[in-house]
Amino acid sequence: MNVVVTGGGMAGMEFLRHASKLPLNITLIEPKRVMVCQALLPELLSDKVDESSLCVKIDEFCDRAGVEFVRDRAKYVENGLIVTEKGRLIEYDIVVLAVGAETNYYGIKDAELTHNVNTLEATLKAKKALDKAERVVVVGSGITGVEIALELAELGFDVRVVESMNRVLPTFSPKVSNFVYKIMKKDGIEVETSTTVLKVDDDGVITSRGKIYGDMVIWCAGLKPSSFVENLDVPKEKGWVKVDPFLRANGYFAIGDCAFVNIDGHIATKTALEAEMQAKHVAKNVERILKGDRLTRYRIRSSLDKPIAMIMLAKGRAILVYKGRLISKPMKLIYKIKKIAIERFLRSFT
Ligand SMILES: Cc1cc2nc3c(=O)[nH]c(=O)nc-3n(C[C@H](O)[C@H](O)[C@H](O)COP(=O)(O)OP(=O)(O)OC[C@H]3O[C@@H](n4cnc5c(N)ncnc54)[C@H](O)[C@@H]3O)c2cc1C
Repeated sequence: MNVVVTGGGMAGMEFLRHASKLPLNITLIEPKRVMVCQALLPELLSDKVDESSLCVKIDEFCDRAGVEFVRDRAKYVENGLIVTEKGRLIEYDIVVLAVGAETNYYGIKDAELTHNVNTLEATLKAKKALDKAERVVVVGSGITGVEIALELAELGFDVRVVESMNRVLPTFSPKVSNFVYKIMKKDGIEVETSTTVLKVDDDGVITSRGKIYGDMVIWCAGLKPSSFVENLDVPKEKGWVKVDPFLRANGYFAIGDCAFVNIDGHIATKTALEAEMQAKHVAKNVERILKGDRLTRYRIRSSLDKPIAMIMLAKGRAILVYKGRLISKPMKLIYKIKKIAIERFLRSFT
């Protein structure tokens, strides 16, 4: 049976780690050389970790796991074949979509000219730009925006955060937001909530409340579905692949950030934990297909109404939000646990 995985990020690689033990011909289509642990990108920006400690070499992993690695980008699907950008046609019996997400600029003028930390390349570019900056504007205060702002404040940058909602970490409870807001203020960060960026220019951003000056702008305001998904004939929710409780959509499996998982009214968060769990579940379901068994339903671990997240707050601190509840003590221990969990995850590929 031919299984093709599009995307070798956290979800795709975790699927491969499990499914490569099964009697399958597996092909991975991924344009990048390495899998990146995005959770460490804020610390790469602040120079706490180096590039090698957050990357897994995909070719070496695929060699060991017996997976064919096609270093290319899936472009579209036609007549039962995946067509890549370089013109390869790849046959499949099962496709696992794991193409992640792209930065969303919401059509805001010149927002594409800002920096971001969504990929390794973008983070390294932003890191270089920091050499010439003193004032940094961070747009968006979800987990990434908060982590970046605090890392930069620790380094002594003058940081202003702009958030369109009325509090930081708006998808979490007000208790979590207030706790983190106080830390941000204490660390000297200016936070402008209920403020929308209208335009980006050479020396900052123009917002609904006036100009905010900055030597560089880091965009942490949101994600949108990958362009590959746009052209696929699958059910969608705001462009994301809308899967059933078995994580299937019109004959494809979809996992990780590219998937919209709504089971019994609970919506999965776009997090590493969900990417890993979904990947493992789909590998199990593929095994069931091989054995002729019935597929089993997925169980969401971290949903928007009861999220699970470890949020790093610089200075060796982190908090845990468990099923929506704030666990803020001891912050240094939570930070250490998060680092150990990431290290273990990365080591499982070597
Ligand atoms: C800065 C940052 C910090 C984060 N911190 C945390 C955290 O602390 N905790 C947490 O739980 N989550 C965190 N996340 C979210 C987490 O990293 C993602 O939810 C997770 O990586 C999703 O995995 P994925 O495989 O779906 O997507 P990705 O890991 O983004 O991988 C997608 C892959 O698909 C490839 N791809 C794209 N298009 C194509 C195509 N057409 N053909 C083939 N391949 C393609 C890409 O090159 C990429 O390698 C963070 C994210 C960011 C950006």
